[in-house]
Amino acid sequence: MTTKIRVAVAGAAGRMGKEVVKMVLEDAELELAAAINRSGEGTDAGTLVGLPACGIKVQSDLELALVESKAQVLVDFTTPQFAYKNTELAIRLGVAPVVGTTGFTPEQIEDLDKQCKSKGIGGLIAPNFSIGAILMMKFAAQAAKHFPNLEIIEYHGDQKLDAPSGTAVKTAELIAQNREELRQGNPNEEETIDGARGGYYNGFRIHSVRLPGVFAQQEVIFGGFGQTLKIRHDSYERAGYMPGVALAVKKVMEYQGMVYGFEHFID
Ligand code: NAP
Repeated sequence: MTTKIRVAVAGAAGRMGKEVVKMVLEDAELELAAAINRSGEGTDAGTLVGLPACGIKVQSDLELALVESKAQVLVDFTTPQFAYKNTELAIRLGVAPVVGTTGFTPEQIEDLDKQCKSKGIGGLIAPNFSIGAILMMKFAAQAAKHFPNLEIIEYHGDQKLDAPSGTAVKTAELIAQNREELRQGNPNEEETIDGARGGYYNGFRIHSVRLPGVFAQQEVIFGGFGQTLKIRHDSYERAGYMPGVALAVKKVMEYQGMVYGFEHFID
């Protein structure tokens, strides 16, 4: 019998964190080692997610939780403000981080990569764990070779903290690898309302729509002579990310350094 991977979940009482706790408790290859959340201390993690009590209580001190639980992997779905510190702490303790929280800067990712390498462990920062979204990004990067004029529109709920979304940033970076910087549109264009043309990245624009009722969608629109091409992905619920998170937890210890993007974990 193979030993189960011991998984700690930070942000366990959050919308994504609860899905992760449920997934870990239901996966025969994984074991819930600890559940960490700022609020809700003492609540049983199983009960929290609508399953029978599992004996793991929500804790608020991440360091204590990681040390006491002997966790091997930390899954973090907290907030951009805390995820960086949480990830540094996990690396320092030799726990492989799998980070879904968005909002990391390229400098932070580079820094965490160095920390992982000096500790000899692997980690993953994945702005999107959905296979459909990964394919959308890959197809968009491929299309940019033929259609260098494009705009990205991403749609999320109105309570999202960061804009543009981590997925939009990642898509933009992948596109930029396949396309020379090209400042699009009319050079004399003027915005009569600030921000009307969206955020500027490598010559193209990214628009962030924030509305109640929306979950997570993204469209990349390419314009060419007499034609447009639209590549679109729609996520409808958080459970859709869980097969990706489970795969990441099982594979992360095979890597060295901080991997940025779930696409590197799938063929
Ligand atoms: P959420 O519902 O607000 O959950 C965040 C949770 O983290 C809350 O329970 C919060 O506790 C807890 N928390 C905050 N700071 C903490 C800390 N220092 N230590 C421990 N727990 C802490 O947010 P969400 O919708 O689950 O999203 C979480 C993150 O995942 C966001 O950055 C979002 O953009 C990202 N996300 C990523 C993907 C992906 O595929 N990678 C998919 C969806 C969302 P309190 O309520 O007590 O403050």
